[in-house]
Amino acid sequence: MVNVEHDFHMAEGEGDWSYSKNSRRQEIVIRETKPIIRSAIIEVYTALLPKTMVIVDLGCSSGPNTLLFISDVIRVIADQCKTSEGDPVELQFFLNDLPGNDFNELFRALEKFKKSNIADQPGHAPPFYYVSGLPESYYNRLFPRQSVHLFHSSYCLHWRSQVPKGIDASRETYLNEDNIYITNTTTPDEVKQFQEQFHKDFSLFLKLRHEELVYGGKMVLVFLGRKDEDVYNGDLNQLFGLVARSLQSLVLKGLVEKAKLESFHLPVYGPSVAEVKEVVMQSKIFNMDQITLFEANWDPFDDSEGCDVHDSTRSSLNVAKCIRSVLKSLIVSYFGEAILDALFVEFRCLVAKHLEEEKTKFAVIATSLKKI
Ligand code: SAH
Repeated sequence: MVNVEHDFHMAEGEGDWSYSKNSRRQEIVIRETKPIIRSAIIEVYTALLPKTMVIVDLGCSSGPNTLLFISDVIRVIADQCKTSEGDPVELQFFLNDLPGNDFNELFRALEKFKKSNIADQPGHAPPFYYVSGLPESYYNRLFPRQSVHLFHSSYCLHWRSQVPKGIDASRETYLNEDNIYITNTTTPDEVKQFQEQFHKDFSLFLKLRHEELVYGGKMVLVFLGRKDEDVYNGDLNQLFGLVARSLQSLVLKGLVEKAKLESFHLPVYGPSVAEVKEVVMQSKIFNMDQITLFEANWDPFDDSEGCDVHDSTRSSLNVAKCIRSVLKSLIVSYFGEAILDALFVEFRCLVAKHLEEEKTKFAVIATSLKKI
């Protein structure tokens, strides 16, 4: 069984296949959600005027995107402080991810970032800021009671704390055998297991963060979801369906044991907006100030808006590099490093064929929540 806390992390380092070189999609999503982040920062800062503002990036990973978030916050606060008198606010950032995350790479990049004064604005000095790493799953308590002003999390909360236990237990009697996520042969009972895992994880996440936030504190959460209410009809179903088919062809080639594939499932679930709203409403501890869904092309380098894929060969390479940098650790810990290249060659071919027929898009949900 996949052990998320132990095995999961984005591809480390700065090489061609690393997450930091293959996270343009996630970067664009951070840029697109800037207005939501910006208004949450301003709201919290102007309402509470803290001497030290504590800001946490949950699931920060090790690429440039974390630094993008930090520099945005610094800029917004610097702008707010331009006219204010008295002691300037200081910022305390905590960068959180699972223990396997490449924090070394992140802190090396942070050193460069500090020297480049990237967040400086002409005319006035940026606020002092301090940055610490926090390697632990956010499905645990991370901070003392009422000590955090703002939580941010981008492209993370579709990951579950574990593969639903029932999925593994039901493996011999149900059909989800060759699948690794929900597809059209997954039974309603199995779908329910994924949904319950989402419900359980997200409720727990809300409860933990509520304890840690100060009154008036906010969270901006951005994650992959589903546009259609039909749980069988989401782009993650299609994407992970193609990963499953790639694994199936390695079974046919004798590179992966059939039994091994049958026992492999992804700890993931892409909820609809209605499912997200339901958990937040039921929790009764957050006001949902905003929730939106927008779409983003699978190919991180395709910025076009229409439904045509102009170069499916190139797009399939871009998609394969992105997904490999995300799934590598789970694939390697379960199947071994040896299958990696072959798997993503298969996957790339399937993605190219798929994109020729349909330009599928990620559904991104962004929500801003305020502690009640
Ligand atoms: N926010 C970054 C990274 C997104 S990738 C960006 O926008 O580029 C998703 C990240 O979530 C990965 O680094 C993964 O390790 C982290 N993650 C997944 N589950 C987690 C958990 N339970 N606790 C902390 N981090 C988690």
